Amino acid sequence: MTNVRVRFAPSPTGALHIGGIRTALFNYLFAKQHHGVFYLRIEDTDQTRYEPKAEQYIMDALDWLGISPDETVNKNEKFGPYRQSERKDIYKKYINQLLETGYAYYAFDTAESLEHERQKAEADKKTFVYNHTTRPQMLNSVSLSEDHVVQKLAANLPFVIRFKNPDHETLHLKDIIRGDVRFETSLLDDKILYKSDGMPTYHFANVVDDHLMQTSHVIRGEEWLPSLPLHYMLYRAFGWTTPEFAHLPLILKPVGNGKLSKRDGDKLGFPVFPLAWENSVGYKDQGFFPEAVINFLAMLGWNDGTEQELFSITDLVEKFDLQKVHKSGAKFDPEKNKWFNHQYLQSKANEDLAPDFLSLLKNKGFDIDIKIVVKIISLIKERTNFVTDFWELSSYLFEAPNTYDEKASKNWNDTSAHYLKEILKILPEITNFKSSEIEIAIKNWATNNEINIGKVMQPLRLSLVGSLKGIAVFDIIEIIGIENTTNRINTAIQTIKAN
Ligand code: GLU
Repeated sequence: MTNVRVRFAPSPTGALHIGGIRTALFNYLFAKQHHGVFYLRIEDTDQTRYEPKAEQYIMDALDWLGISPDETVNKNEKFGPYRQSERKDIYKKYINQLLETGYAYYAFDTAESLEHERQKAEADKKTFVYNHTTRPQMLNSVSLSEDHVVQKLAANLPFVIRFKNPDHETLHLKDIIRGDVRFETSLLDDKILYKSDGMPTYHFANVVDDHLMQTSHVIRGEEWLPSLPLHYMLYRAFGWTTPEFAHLPLILKPVGNGKLSKRDGDKLGFPVFPLAWENSVGYKDQGFFPEAVINFLAMLGWNDGTEQELFSITDLVEKFDLQKVHKSGAKFDPEKNKWFNHQYLQSKANEDLAPDFLSLLKNKGFDIDIKIVVKIISLIKERTNFVTDFWELSSYLFEAPNTYDEKASKNWNDTSAHYLKEILKILPEITNFKSSEIEIAIKNWATNNEINIGKVMQPLRLSLVGSLKGIAVFDIIEIIGIENTTNRINTAIQTIKAN
């Protein structure tokens, strides 16, 4: 395949949903695989829904995920501008062409008259469609005389420009994922191409730009499939070659039916945005690695036909196959997403994870030697999904307990206190204060005195941690050091009441 040029064309109306990111990713993979171009076009023609912060958000999200576009606003603007609101003059020229060739027409109907038609149809249990059946009764340049139209235009009456659908035609179109798809033009609405505010609609701007920016493949969500016949007919009206189309499967709710929404995320406690947006946390803030997000998104609607689930971006560029993308919707599984993060976390070197944990500790006011942090990570990592879990699993290594687990405290008796006092005598004698040496010393003392080591370990752990949780006791002692160990044991002896 030569000259692959694909695009991600979001409308900046708010934060980018994870479904949009999946679309961007599949475009990116397809472009890279064919040594082509992946570009980002900002489709901001709907001024009523425009959100100024969204454009930067989209760019930041793509950068964070490592799938930045090759061309976009302020970057290799080969076919610029890449913001549709800056291309108004271009659209004007093309809409005039369609008016002249008769593929488009002016419509002067007011919002009230359209509403009236809708209600009339509804009363007959029908849906109002603006097409060859209704067009003659409406106020437009097809039904009105030329003079009449000229008069209305001269009087500056508000108008829109609609596409004139063929009355009866069956369109046989191709979709890379769905194969042959058929549409009957008699069922289509004469969609608005140009609004009264002088801006093109999504359909018109999208097709003109895909052509002018030399888009070879349009890869987008399934929700755009109903727009395909119109888009195809626009290309045909202009006499342009159509790009190839691929409509990606929907991303479905984790439970129940339907499309994944932000509400599902709020309800079940998982992010649907890559980065934080207003009050919503993003995958980044939740501690997801970008490579894990890329990996789980790639598996939403695609796999390589084997059991393999872990793919680096390089693997994906090599193995991704648009033809193998599924037709049916892909269920979103937040638990599985954590599993992906877990896998990436385990594969990372402890030294590489340390800086993030170190800064988390710094924020909490702890200034810890990096070597100790690396050691702690090596001991707790296996049980965590995120760097942010590290604190919860290791806080007792930085803070002495201020409460003691009630149930565990019930087993505390005078002997417990006695044993711990003995241990306090042993600790200073250990010359190499390492976990293995501490273990030998304590175990030798227990054996020599015929003490059941189990009776020692429980109170020892309780005094150091405050509960019976945590990593190996001897590792705890090594990490917190002799002074903290001594203080914690003394506090426990004074605080926990013997039974
Ligand atoms: N602006 C549309 C969107 O918001 C683009 C759809 C397409 O890719 O054609 O998703």
